[in-house]
Amino acid sequence: MFKKILIANRGEIACRVAATARRMGIQTVAVYSDADAGAKHVQACDEAVHVGTSAPKDSYLRWERILQAAKDTGAQAIHPGYGFLSENQDFASACAAAGLVFIGPPASAILAMGLKAESKRLMETAGVPLVPGYHGADQDPDLLQREADAIGYPALIKASAGGGGKGMRVVDRSEDFAAALASCQREARNSFGSDAVLIEKYVQRPRHIEIQVFGDTQGNCVHLFERDCSVQRRHQKVLEEAPAPGMTEALRAQMGAAAVAAAKAVNYVGAGTVEFIVEQTAYDQAESMKFFFMEMNTRLQVEHPVTEAITGLDLVEWQLRVANGEPLPLQQHQIRISGHAIEARICAENPDNNFLPATGTLQVYSKPQAVSFQRGTIRVDDGVREGDSISPFYDSMVAKLIVHGDTREQALSRLDSALAQTQIVGLNTNVQFLRYVVRSESFANAKLDTALIQRESAVLFNQDPLGVQAAAAAVIANALQAEAAAQGADPFSRRDGWQSHGITQRRFELAYEGQPVRAELLYEREGILSLQVGAAAAAPLQFTASDDGGLWVHFNGARFLTTVHAQGEVRHVFTPQGAARISLLDPLAHAGETAQEGGRLTAPMPGKVVSFAVKVGDPVKAGQALAVMEAMKMEHTIAAPQDGTVEELLYSPGDQVAEGAELLKLR
Ligand code: ADP
Ligand code: ADP
Ligand code: MG
Repeated sequence: MFKKILIANRGEIACRVAATARRMGIQTVAVYSDADAGAKHVQACDEAVHVGTSAPKDSYLRWERILQAAKDTGAQAIHPGYGFLSENQDFASACAAAGLVFIGPPASAILAMGLKAESKRLMETAGVPLVPGYHGADQDPDLLQREADAIGYPALIKASAGGGGKGMRVVDRSEDFAAALASCQREARNSFGSDAVLIEKYVQRPRHIEIQVFGDTQGNCVHLFERDCSVQRRHQKVLEEAPAPGMTEALRAQMGAAAVAAAKAVNYVGAGTVEFIVEQTAYDQAESMKFFFMEMNTRLQVEHPVTEAITGLDLVEWQLRVANGEPLPLQQHQIRISGHAIEARICAENPDNNFLPATGTLQVYSKPQAVSFQRGTIRVDDGVREGDSISPFYDSMVAKLIVHGDTREQALSRLDSALAQTQIVGLNTNVQFLRYVVRSESFANAKLDTALIQRESAVLFNQDPLGVQAAAAAVIANALQAEAAAQGADPFSRRDGWQSHGITQRRFELAYEGQPVRAELLYEREGILSLQVGAAAAAPLQFTASDDGGLWVHFNGARFLTTVHAQGEVRHVFTPQGAARISLLDPLAHAGETAQEGGRLTAPMPGKVVSFAVKVGDPVKAGQALAVMEAMKMEHTIAAPQDGTVEELLYSPGDQVAEGAELLKLR
């Protein structure tokens, strides 16, 4: 076996490869860019070499530099991970020329499967079923139009060199074809340096089902069953599971055989995935499923852990053994499926804003307790730690959450609770969105196809899992608990500052979803608090600290465990039901700030005015919420520094304002 390997990648996959290497007693060399100097993957390895500045083309894609790093450190082999250089046949050849083992397939297999059109011609000869379509070399636009018309609509135009869901256009009508072709070619030229396209029938109720294959240098080739990756957004995978719901032994055997035939046709060695698009006329009838070859990915796949979970195998170990010239550790009949596994990709993005990628610092990053590594019930694969940043240079995946259960139902509920335990503050993520998908009727009942997210959109987007009552109760309970802890007192005992006009009460100014909310806490008698939020009736509020730093809150008939993280005025409330952001104004802090600014009410940072809570002529009290701003995708409430009257509003809701801009005048 190798003594030392270099991992030509970053993030979670570099950490993943390093973990197996360490377990096998193989030393590892990391490479890193400027942005990744302190990254988790660097610390996961035994040595590290700086290979350039932050942009991938100046670091992780500089293969001469990476080969040099391997030579300098005495590495014998290079693991490319996925993305970056993993499907670059020139890099694979250059490794061999430099006397290094490329942990992946032969360059000839990468080349053969690299272009979708060429690979389909090859698959046609190998007898692998193809989606009806055109994959010829002639790219004359009139010919392409005629081919699409013959296939019928909807049709799909795909960049032959495409990947990562880019360079694809669904065309619904013949008259739209020319414009879609031009825009697909433009994107393909920019992203992949080639505008060659192919055309496919757009399969109905399409399911993405792929087969994991493995070959060795002795000519053996097996498959490790299927993964269903139908839940997608923008043709990119969101949730992946194995086995595929509704799969039968017969269909699995056919698809497995087709995938092995595809791999053998290119003398495949190492880990690969043959992706099929599956047409179905009904959701839960395997008999109605027809599969067609889509493409082959000649590398380890992002979602390989679900296969590891159901087979109990370590695919990176298999890669290393095969690259070392050993035969496959198991034969086909020795590989078995146990239970069900699901992976969720946690990404820095904003699902409610068209999945716009987000960047920022992981100010809080707490993850579910992992239970064992491969076959365990919960596994977290990530390449970041609390305090790390998600930068604009690389992709937006923060972590992968992989759960395993005896049944799909069990895996599903484990995933939901693992997601509930995932707390991230500092940037937008899709965690809550993933929970909605997992709980949606379609996903829960395995009515899978690539349009699932679109079909279920009414319950996936712009939801409010917690509601203002629970969010306010959590935040106020948390504030009282923190004050009491600071003073060494019981939070339910009465304190003098609360007294006003004989009633013991206290006011909180909150802002929820851009709207100011007033909450009033009443101290009724020894040990009894009641809370009124907004216009709702007051209800008793009780809370106790939990063992792990959280709070049990009992309010309005609900009893829940919550953790609250503060980020300036914004409070991030996490509960098993879901998470929410609510702002808790601190009138004193605001009075201080404004005093320094000479009484002007200014924007604390560049952003957008969401709403004004007051109008010209309104009398206001110190600490009262006046306006809500949104900046860095977060809401900030601007409060009155002192009592007064609103003289002028200088902007309207929706306006963009610069940092320091005066928002309104008080007199
Ligand atoms: P998988 O099927 O493993 O999910 P994807 O197509 O989503 O494969 O890509 C896996 C990773 O490889 C992604 O994180 C993406 O960043 C990267 N990737 C895929 N294709 C390309 C490409 N053409 N250019 C750059 N990166 C790519
Ligand atoms: P990429 O290289 O970007 O991964 P693929 O060819 O694998 O490109 O396609 C990506 C996704 O697009 C698939 O997972 C599937 O959701 C969808 N797709 C591709 N081909 C078809 C088709 N013929 N009909 C319906 N959906 C398709
Ligand atoms: Mg694909």
